[in-house]
This record gives sequence, structure tokens and C-alpha cells, in this order.
Amino acid sequence: MELKNNILKGGIHYLTSDYKTRNSNRKAHNGMDFVGPNKVDDIVAVEDGIVNFTGYDSSGGGYWVSIKTNGIEHRYFHLAKNTIRVKKGETVKKGQVIATMGKTGNATGYNVHFAIYNKGYQDPKPYLMNDNPFNLNKEPENNFHTFLKGVQQALNVSVTELPNQETLNKTITLSQTKNNKHPVVKVLQAYLQSLGYDLGKYGIDGIYGPQMAKIIKEYQEKIVGLKGNLVDGVITAKKYTWQKLLKLS
Ligand SMILES: [Zn+2]
Repeated sequence: MELKNNILKGGIHYLTSDYKTRNSNRKAHNGMDFVGPNKVDDIVAVEDGIVNFTGYDSSGGGYWVSIKTNGIEHRYFHLAKNTIRVKKGETVKKGQVIATMGKTGNATGYNVHFAIYNKGYQDPKPYLMNDNPFNLNKEPENNFHTFLKGVQQALNVSVTELPNQETLNKTITLSQTKNNKHPVVKVLQAYLQSLGYDLGKYGIDGIYGPQMAKIIKEYQEKIVGLKGNLVDGVITAKKYTWQKLLKLS
């Protein structure tokens, strides 16, 4: 099976069991099982993300890793014991080896059970067959233009086709306590959602709450490349996060 986003390092995948939802005569299978050309192949991350979990699942998954990208988990099961090479909280790159194929848990033989979890299990196929399925760091240009226009209107600066210094100079600090209901928050939320970020149960509500702070932390770490104390969930006036959002850095 030819994949756009590899799970096995060598890039050769044989599908041994497909994703199936539960129906009257068949048991559900909440992921896809693959074997590679070798008995034990290295398993790689299908997309950039942050390690969300590593450990053992006693209900049949065996050793497994979960990586989170824009709120969506990609999960890898039946890993060989003592081969997990990533730790919770660590940033991983697409194609990076995360573990070695095994048959731990309820596995009939060496294989990887790959699953997508996003408020429930989903068919992994679109995540394996499409370009940039997690919407990472890439968006249709019109989303950005809508965003830029919205920011400029909300900040009361001249509306231009392109981001500029004047816009950056007028940016304000946004946090859970500062300007948390400013009109620009709504514009920002719509944009972040278009990039694939999960706004949580309140959606685009125009309020800079805990979920916004969480998303911004993720954005700061993953997209802006900030580290340590700078990953604060606050969009400081004229600083790095605004610069990145406005494509000025
Ligand atoms: Zn399976």
C-alpha cells in the first residue's frame, strides 16, 4: 500500500487488517494493521507532533505511543518491549523513528496497529493518503487574507493586502486576563480553527479562555519555535507570536 505519510521507515506497507466500524456481524477494528518487508520494521511518526503518551495498554494494545498534532492523536500499538525511543512531552518530526514493530498485547504476529483518535476513533486512511492531513503550518492563502483583514479592522489600522509593520505596531497583548474579549480574539479563533486547532466546547466565542491559552502554547512551541518561559500562552503585543501570526517572521 502506497502512503503519503509513512508509518514504517522503509516506506513499504502491507495492509493486513483495515479499519472497520462496528456492524451487526463484524467486530469493530479501530485502526489499520500493517506489516513491512522485514519481520520487524522501525516505526516512524506520520507527522510532526508532541508525544502525548508512551506506555502499556493492558486491554490488548501492548506497548504503544500516542503523538498529538493540532489536537489529533496518532497512535501506534503492539510495539516491541523496550524499543520506544520518545518520551512524553517531546517534540517529534515526521519520519522520525519512534519505536520498533513488535507483537505485544493482543497481536497475532509482528504488526503495527495504527489509529487516529480525535474525540473518538476515526478511519486513519485520510491521514495516511493525503498531503498534510493534520493541517500543520499550512493553510489556504485566503484564510490568511481573511485573518489579516480581520486583524487590521479590529486593531483599527489601514487594511492592506500584505502584513506590515504598522499592523504589528498596533498589536495588543492577549491573554486570559488581558484584552480577553477584544474583537481581535474572535478573528484569531476563526483563523486558528482554519489551521486545524481545536477550540474546544465553546468554539469561536470571542473569549480568550484556557483553551485559547493552551492552543497558543502549542502554536508557540510548534510553529513559533519558542522554548521554556516564552511558551506562556500569551500573545504579547509586537512580539514573536504576533510576528509569526502576521507572517512577519
Ligand atoms: Zn489492529
